Amino acid sequence: MIPTSLLTCPNCGHRSRETMPTDACQFFYECKSCGVVLKPKPGDCCVFCSYGDTPCPPVQAGGSVCRGAAIDAKSGDDKEASD
Ligand SMILES: [Zn+2]
Repeated sequence: MIPTSLLTCPNCGHRSRETMPTDACQFFYECKSCGVVLKPKPGDCCVFCSYGDTPCPPVQAGGSVCRGAAIDAKSGDDKEASD
């Protein structure tokens, strides 16, 4: 289990290694450089899954709180003709 995640601010590019809570997901994160408040992208449960290099502890533990909602499995492959 990796307890920290390297968050990258999409606004200013600032990187900061943050300790993740192990029992909850962190929904908001305020950038220490520019002060913008980050929120998870659609389908992600927390800012670490959206902007960090390591998914949050519940996901590392094998849970599917993140990204499960984004999965939309369809049968058949949709290849784009690149000819
Ligand atoms: Zn920032």
